[in-house]
Amino acid sequence: MPVSGANTQVFLARRPDHMPGDDVFGFRQIAVPAIRPGEVLVEAVYVSLDPYMRGAMNGSFVVGEAMSGGVVGRIADGGNSGLRQGAWVQASLPWQSFSAVAADQVRLLDADDAPVSTALGVLGMPGLTAWTGLHNVAGIEPGESVFVSAATGAVGSVAGQIARLHGCRVIGCAGSDEKCAWARDVLGYDGMINHRSASDLATAIAALAPDGVDVDFENVGGPVMQAVIANMNTHGRIALCGMISQYNRLGAEAGPNNLFRLIYGRIRMQGFIVSDYAEEAEPFRRQVGAWVRAGKLHYREDIAEGWTALPQAFRSLLSGDNFGKVLVQVSDDPSRRT
Ligand code: NDP
Repeated sequence: MPVSGANTQVFLARRPDHMPGDDVFGFRQIAVPAIRPGEVLVEAVYVSLDPYMRGAMNGSFVVGEAMSGGVVGRIADGGNSGLRQGAWVQASLPWQSFSAVAADQVRLLDADDAPVSTALGVLGMPGLTAWTGLHNVAGIEPGESVFVSAATGAVGSVAGQIARLHGCRVIGCAGSDEKCAWARDVLGYDGMINHRSASDLATAIAALAPDGVDVDFENVGGPVMQAVIANMNTHGRIALCGMISQYNRLGAEAGPNNLFRLIYGRIRMQGFIVSDYAEEAEPFRRQVGAWVRAGKLHYREDIAEGWTALPQAFRSLLSGDNFGKVLVQVSDDPSRRT
């Protein structure tokens, strides 16, 4: 069924130098693509904004072309795929209202199982990142002490809760008292530090983890990471997930300047990329989906409305103004229960 109407596209207008300004994001209207055999037409409803896109703006995104990422949307035209019109799907798509994509590149979602937006957050790539970082990279054990930076974000909020449900003692840091309170009261963190107001991060961590930190789930890098390393136990592990404090910097970040502690502490630090762990997606979704449905694992979404809200929503990720998984809703979600 041909679809007509507006097809808004967001493209990379120029590469950013520092915090991406409005001039980095171009908006234009393009034709709704015609689908070829084997393709479906997807109408975007939720667009995921993720920190790695900041790197892509100076790397894999091409100036003049649509930017792209995780999208949840509905089938506007299923072609000969057997997917019915209106079915919910998740896929990696250009930032535009309507996209043609191979039918085998979309994942069918069940709106009765969980809110469809969670396929981009707690039950999607960020949640899987938390799962693999803790289980496959750090190898957490019950009773261990785990530190999570950016503890209330899309990845960190899931990491803290998985570690808690695994029987670990969990502490972390976030950028406001409100975020710290939510982490303690709702997510079940044993202790939280406001990294923006703490005068001495290493001392604050020592106070919350007097027996030291066994596992660092590292999302931030820089001074936060340095303070955690200062508190790590012998045979500790650092799951190096992200270094968001560095993504926007013009110059090099100072530190961590205490990496020598990894040597005599026999501490293992391993970077990882979630896409290397596709085989974990099924057990992750089964377990974390069950915890979410049982009310044992909580999540929060920070949803901006409309394509034009995308630039500011993206900046909120890098400044810490977001509170939860950052999404942009670009068309109606009739499945959302109020
Ligand atoms: P979040 O939802 O956690 O949002 C980013 C948060 O980072 C902000 O809210 C802010 O929280 C914090 N932050 C930003 N700048 C700084 C800073 N200078 N110092 C300290 N904290 C800062 O994002 P995600 O959960 O999506 O991503 C978290 C990390 O995980 C990122 O580093 C990302 O690159 C990484 N990642 C890695 C993947 C992998 O495969 N390795 C996959 C997915 C994500 P606050 O207010 O608390 O300071």
